[in-house]
Amino acid sequence: MADDGFWMRALAEADAADAADPLAVFRDRFRLPPGVIYLDGNSLGPAPEASLRALAEAAEQEWAGALVASWNSAGWFDLPTRLGDLVAPVIGADAGEVVVCDTTTINIHKALHAGLSLRPDRRVVVAEAGSFPTDLYAAASLGAALTLRLEGVDGPELEGLIDADVAVVLVNQVDYRSGLRRDVATVTARAQAAGAVVIWDLCHSAGVMPVGLNEAGADLAVGCTYKYLNGGPGSPAFVFCAARHQAAVRQPLAGWWGHARPFDFERGFEPAQGIRRFLCGTQPILSLRALEAGLAIAAEADLGAVRAKSVALTERFVALVETAAAELGVALYSPRDPEVRGSQVALTHPEGYAVMQALIARGVVGDFRQPDILRFGFAPLYIRHVDVVRAVRTLEQVLAGRVWDAERYRARAAVT
Ligand SMILES: *Cc1c(COP(=O)(O)O)cnc(C)c1O
Repeated sequence: MADDGFWMRALAEADAADAADPLAVFRDRFRLPPGVIYLDGNSLGPAPEASLRALAEAAEQEWAGALVASWNSAGWFDLPTRLGDLVAPVIGADAGEVVVCDTTTINIHKALHAGLSLRPDRRVVVAEAGSFPTDLYAAASLGAALTLRLEGVDGPELEGLIDADVAVVLVNQVDYRSGLRRDVATVTARAQAAGAVVIWDLCHSAGVMPVGLNEAGADLAVGCTYKYLNGGPGSPAFVFCAARHQAAVRQPLAGWWGHARPFDFERGFEPAQGIRRFLCGTQPILSLRALEAGLAIAAEADLGAVRAKSVALTERFVALVETAAAELGVALYSPRDPEVRGSQVALTHPEGYAVMQALIARGVVGDFRQPDILRFGFAPLYIRHVDVVRAVRTLEQVLAGRVWDAERYRARAAVT
């Protein structure tokens, strides 16, 4: 527990940090509900004002007004590659190496098959047992002809599982629960030294830190756009394939958008040259139009400054929790060292679900992950240092007052 003087000083320090923040100008670009401290942008980013305008324009002028002509006049058909070229600098790729389409899950399926198509003589896929389940479901669906080796089950360390039998390593840059952050260059080099292909899942890193795919010599990558890239609910995901692999890779979801000549309507399938071969069929244009505006913000922000502020925000959060709330039953689940931590902090509490409900009722929005994890995401483009102080103070009040006990029953009742 901390006294009022402590919180006054903490707020003053946070105010000073906000006044000196080079990214402070970005906050007004988002529509954030008043009175809410939104620490769940790692699940669904808030709406950029420009996305709301783009949606209205796409719906009223392009769809309602120009109808089918918009496929050409509004550039709808080229949105997946145009947006891919906007994502490319955000993840350290070059133009022509990224396409925006489908969901992350679908793109993981495509990337797994693409990776295997580059190593047809190998039968082992390595992944993390603690990975986001959809990644594991996709890997397991590859079937009995392949062996799935899991970090945390078959060995404690991912690197130790990579040998000359491994075709593909599917790995997250940042773990969705703990926030553990891996070094892209180190893991890529380790996998490639064994002759394996790496697929990076960038869902919890794209847009919130430099990724440096080409600097690391990465092979394939996938990621979400509705988290730190603020594309809107269900906005299409991205897939990266290094230029050197593009002529050789195959993915099984053949469709007309991935054909070399889609408008020749040929009977036989011939994959497009380049990244377009990762496309399958018609894309959700309204979602792509909303995402375009979100990506423009990410392209403007300096990712070095974003990462620096992200570290400062999570460090402030952890330090305040250690002082004010640690004796109140929460423990740090994320790495303590910011070097190996992403832009989120996870805490554990035996009544984690109810505690999070109580926080949300008080305007501090994070989320809960089984079995007992409170997850807080810090998106540097709109979260301020003062938000961090207020969030921890609210957490302290909730824990000290044990207000979650009563809330728990209300929350449970609401679900059943
Ligand atoms: C959010 C997330 C996904 C989401 O996949 P969808 O197909 O968009 O539902 C997949 N993998 C990871 C690691 C994620 O964090």
